[in-house]
Amino acid sequence: MSLLTETLAATLVPLKTVAVILAVGLLIERLRPAERHQPWRDIGFNLAYVTFIIILNGLLIPPLMALMQPIARDYGLHVPIAFPDGVGWQVVQALVFFAIFDFFYYWLHRAQHTLPWLWPLHKLHHSERSVNVTTTMRHHWLEEPIRVWVVLLPIGLLFDQKPVTLAWISTAITLWGYFVHANLRLPLGPLSMLVAGPQWHRIHHSIEPQHTDRNFAAFFPIYDKLFGTYVHPGRDEYPATGLHSREDLNGPMRAVFSPFRDWWRALRGDRASDATDDRPTD
Ligand SMILES: [Zn+2]
Ligand SMILES: [Zn+2]
Repeated sequence: MSLLTETLAATLVPLKTVAVILAVGLLIERLRPAERHQPWRDIGFNLAYVTFIIILNGLLIPPLMALMQPIARDYGLHVPIAFPDGVGWQVVQALVFFAIFDFFYYWLHRAQHTLPWLWPLHKLHHSERSVNVTTTMRHHWLEEPIRVWVVLLPIGLLFDQKPVTLAWISTAITLWGYFVHANLRLPLGPLSMLVAGPQWHRIHHSIEPQHTDRNFAAFFPIYDKLFGTYVHPGRDEYPATGLHSREDLNGPMRAVFSPFRDWWRALRGDRASDATDDRPTD
C-alpha cells in the first residue's frame, strides 16, 4: 500500500470521530448560541479545511514525533512526574501535565501574536468571523508541526510522564479545544479565572481593540493573570470576532499559502500589505 493510501486508511478513525464531535457540537450550539445565524458558507469551509488538516497531520505528525522522541529520550532531564495509581492521583497527575503544557502553550501562543514573522501562521485561526466548534482545528497546517518542537519537545526533555496518562490527556486536550470554541452563551462567571471557557476564549478572538493579545492560555487563565494578559469577560459580553483588517482567508489557496505571501511581502518591505497590518493601531 502506498504511504498516501495507508495514511488515508489511518485517518478514517479520527475523521469519523471529529465528524461526530462537530455534529454534536453544532447541535448543542443551537440551544443557546452566543451569535445567531452564523453563515453556513463559513462552517462549510471549516469542515472542508478540517478534513484536509486531519489527513495532512496524519502524514506529517507521526514522522515528526518519531524524530522528536529519541531527542527527548536521549538528552532530557526527565524529572519524573509519577503520582500513585488510582483515579484520584491520576487526575492530579493529569492536572499537573495540563499546567505544564499550558505554560509552554501560553508562551508559544503569545509569541504567535506578538512576533510579526509568526503572526501570519496564526492569522488563519483568527480570521474566523463565526467562532464555533468547527473553528477548533482551523489552524494553518504548519502550526501543529511547530507545536511538536516548541511545546512537546521541551516537555519531553524536562519531564517523564506515564504513557497511559499521556494517552487520555491528549484526548482531553483535544476535547477542551472544542469546548472553548463553542458558539455558546455559557458564562462561567468567577470560574473564568480558574478555567478557560467559550466566553473567555471568544474574548481572545474579539476584534475589539481592548481585547487584542489577551487570554492566551488553553486551560488555566492563571497564566494570563500572572503575565498580565488576562481580561475577564463582562456580563453578556460576546464581541464580534475576526481580523482587524477583516481579511477573508476562507479559500483553499488563501488558507494554505497566505503566510508565504505575507512573509514575501514583508521581505520586500511592502508597507501596505505588511504581515502586521491587521494588528490594531491603537
Ligand atoms: Zn490566538
Ligand atoms: Zn481559538
